[in-house]
Amino acid sequence: VYRLAQVSNHIIDQCVAQGVPFAREYGGLLANRSFGGAQVSRTFYARGQTGQQLLLGAYSALMRQVARGQVKLFPRREMLDLVVINGKARGITVRNLITGEIESHEGDAVILATGGYGNVFYLSTNAKNSNATAVWRCHKKGAFFANPCFTQIHPTCIPVSGEYQSKLTLMSESLRNDGRVWVPKKKGDTRPPNEIPEEERDYYLERIYPSFGNLVPRDVASRQAKFRVDEGRGVGPTGHAVYLDFRDAIKRLGKKAIAEKYGNLFQMYEKITGENPYEVPMRIYPASHYTMGGLWVDYNLQSTIPGLFVLGEANFSDHGANRLGASALMQGLADGYFIAPYTLGNYIASTDLDKIDLSHSEFQGSQE
Ligand SMILES: Cc1cc2nc3c(=O)[nH]c(=O)nc-3n(C[C@H](O)[C@H](O)[C@H](O)COP(=O)(O)OP(=O)(O)OC[C@H]3O[C@@H](n4cnc5c(N)ncnc54)[C@H](O)[C@@H]3O)c2cc1C
Repeated sequence: VYRLAQVSNHIIDQCVAQGVPFAREYGGLLANRSFGGAQVSRTFYARGQTGQQLLLGAYSALMRQVARGQVKLFPRREMLDLVVINGKARGITVRNLITGEIESHEGDAVILATGGYGNVFYLSTNAKNSNATAVWRCHKKGAFFANPCFTQIHPTCIPVSGEYQSKLTLMSESLRNDGRVWVPKKKGDTRPPNEIPEEERDYYLERIYPSFGNLVPRDVASRQAKFRVDEGRGVGPTGHAVYLDFRDAIKRLGKKAIAEKYGNLFQMYEKITGENPYEVPMRIYPASHYTMGGLWVDYNLQSTIPGLFVLGEANFSDHGANRLGASALMQGLADGYFIAPYTLGNYIASTDLDKIDLSHSEFQGSQE
């Protein structure tokens, strides 16, 4: 964590150099905002799509190297196995998802950056392909797994709306900077939210946690939402939701200011639910979102199998039992841009690596 704090400033410089359009103040300096569990504004952001913009920056830098012939991509491959030779990770076996063929690739080391395992829950906010298959296969080959129960339940997801759904959509935590979370004081109150007068609303996070208010850490907000629903004070057609209301922020700052900050999220919400969050409060409910647990790694991001390095959400480093907002991207970028390039080089330079090729029996066995 100390090292992460040290390198985090470089991440911003690196990403700005790649062209990531971080939000800026009027004078041109980087703007920042608050996130759950933090009582100061210290998070750099790119509207409501920081992750997407960071990804575009990383992709464009990667494709530049591909064009120069420095990197060769093998897209549309699913990793099926880790190949371990003489106790060291020396390659992988994959399925070509276009042709169905099984292929192996050898190397001096293997880097795994295959994301978390939030999809072990039936509905989560994760992409369906972030499915834990790769970390599981490495675990079966002997890599230790740490803290598997550390799953983050994010408080602001669009509630389940039917049985046909295969995933859930996240509404960014940044919305809690301006949105106020509430439920009706009365149990089973089915009035539309705008007809419930102020004195009959329970802004329960502000009431219970006056210092953090709506920006309590994620686990606290999630647990409190569930308590309200269990008490029979949930809202919406299923009763499994609470309100996130922008009425006061719009009154205070104006619709334009809110649209500038969160316009894309509001649009996404309206497309999914058919409700306009400028007019009626959003409905939100907690859902599985991120996994702090993962493959065990040492300070060099190396797993218990020498030569297998694990980066990003796939490893267990940094976040303890409760990750705070924005720090997943920070950790993934620090791992990839500023830690692995040094620790991997050190491993290769200081390790005796036998010459191997794909005719090795371990590759043959892995393909079978
Ligand atoms: C909706 C949403 C919003 C988020 N917003 C934020 C935010 O605002 N700030 C923040 O800090 N964090 C945020 N997070 C968390 C953060 O985005 C993730 O933790 C981060 O993207 C993980 O990056 P990664 O590169 O480790 O893994 P991923 O981005 O999950 O990438 C893993 C890749 O590996 C592939 N893969 C998996 N298994 C295999 C296999 N067997 N073979 C081949 N490929 C495989 C997957 O298809 C995927 O492409 C958000 C997460 C979600 C889901």
